[in-house]
Amino acid sequence: MTLLATPVALRTAPRWSPSDAAAMSAEFEGCHPGEVITWATEEFGSRLCLSASFADTLLIDLAVAVNPDIDVVFIDTGFHFAETLATVRRAMARYSLNLTVLRPAATAADIWNHGADTCCGSRKVAPLERHLVANADAWMSGLRRDDSPQRANAPIVDLDLRGLVKVNPLAGWSTEAIERHITDHDVLVNPLSFEGYPSIGCWPCTQPADPNDPRSGRWAGSDKSECGLHQ
Ligand code: SF4
Repeated sequence: MTLLATPVALRTAPRWSPSDAAAMSAEFEGCHPGEVITWATEEFGSRLCLSASFADTLLIDLAVAVNPDIDVVFIDTGFHFAETLATVRRAMARYSLNLTVLRPAATAADIWNHGADTCCGSRKVAPLERHLVANADAWMSGLRRDDSPQRANAPIVDLDLRGLVKVNPLAGWSTEAIERHITDHDVLVNPLSFEGYPSIGCWPCTQPADPNDPRSGRWAGSDKSECGLHQ
C-alpha cells in the first residue's frame, strides 16, 4: 500500500508559468501583505485557499479583512498540541471562519512505524493535496524568509509542484515587523510561542528552539527541515 502523496499524478494544467509567477513576485517586493492578499483575492476569487497552522492568526487576520469568507484550511494530523487546537477554537470564536479541517485517511502512516517523511506525506501533504486539487487554483501560506535558511529566498508568488499558484504574503516581512503587527492588532498567538516554541508543528516532532533559528526545533536531530507542504 502506498501511503505517500502522489503530487505528480494530481497535477492540473497550470494557468500560470514560472516566469509569470516570478514577475508578479518581483512586483510585490516591499509591498504590505494586505496588498498581496487583495490581489490574490481578486485574481482567484473563491478558488483561493488559505492554509493555516495556527501558530498565530496573523495571516488569517489580514486575509479576513479582505474576504471574511475566505476558504481557510487546517490540517489536523492527529498529533497537534492541545494549545494549537485551542488556538483554532479561539480563532473560530473571533473570526467565524469559513474553516475546513482536513484529516488524514484512517490508514494514514505514523512517525513511529513509518518514519517522518512518510508520516508527513500521509498526514499533511496528502490531505492538503486532495483539498487543493478539488477546490483551488491558488493557495496562501504564512511561510516567511526569516523562518529558516532554507526559506531565505522564498518568493511572494510561486508555483507549487501541482502547478497551482502559491502565495506567501508574509514572505518578506521581518520577525520584528510581524511581532509589531501582532501586538498592535492583538492577533491571536498560540500560547506555546511564549514557552520557547518559535515554530509549532506536531508534538512528536517539535521542541523548544532558539528564536534566532525558529525551525531548529522541528524534527530536531534529523536532516528533515520541511514537511513537504511547501514544494
Ligand atoms: S510533523 Fe511529525 S507527527 Fe506530524 S505529520 Fe510530520 S512526521 Fe507526522
